[in-house]
Amino acid sequence: KLSTEEFRKALLKAAAELEQHKDELTDLDREIGDGDHGINMSRGFQAVQKELEAQEEYEDLGALSKQVGMTLIKTVGGASGPLYGTAFVKFAGAFKGKTEVEGQELAAAFKEATDGIKMRGKSEFGQKTMVDIWTPFYEALEQESDLNATLDQALADTKERVATKGRASYFGDATVGVQDPGALSSSLLLRSIVEVLS
Ligand code: ADP
Ligand code: MG
Ligand code: MG
Repeated sequence: KLSTEEFRKALLKAAAELEQHKDELTDLDREIGDGDHGINMSRGFQAVQKELEAQEEYEDLGALSKQVGMTLIKTVGGASGPLYGTAFVKFAGAFKGKTEVEGQELAAAFKEATDGIKMRGKSEFGQKTMVDIWTPFYEALEQESDLNATLDQALADTKERVATKGRASYFGDATVGVQDPGALSSSLLLRSIVEVLS
């Protein structure tokens, strides 16, 4: 079960986690990108954190998601900004008017968010992007399997793939064995959400 207050807490946790991993995310992006992913995510989630600290109460999960989505679109930049932003805008639609969501309804919201990322990025599972994390995650929600174990496995699998989408695709075979920065940032965000589910 995910409540508005718990989702807010998870996003604050995610902001802290992304800040802690800022250099790691940037180093990975330096290897198979343009070296800004940690900086982009930090900028976005520091802005989110500021807003969540300024406003403790949200009407529902939809209002919270909408604000986060808009902030991420405005602040993250790069390829990942619109993608993360779209995920939260999709959450806003799925969570509209709801203060608590669980089970298959929660799984459906994560599937919608993932579909939003795929549509926006013209991407699909298996291309070594954040989609490779979001897809098994919503499937695990659907199947009620272990979420953290799923994230671990998804990260390990993604690391060994060849990037065929986004900036990393220019690095071709050199991307095998290097973690995708967006996959890592997605796992940090989703793990923070798993922590508050009850
Ligand atoms: P940029 O590549 O513009 O510098 P970032 O470095 O912030 O943007 O984000 C890069 C991450 O975004 C990648 O690691 C990957 O996970 C994700 N990404 C990039 N392009 C796509 C896409 N078309 N579809 C899904 N994810 C993508
Ligand atoms: Mg980059
Ligand atoms: Mg960039």
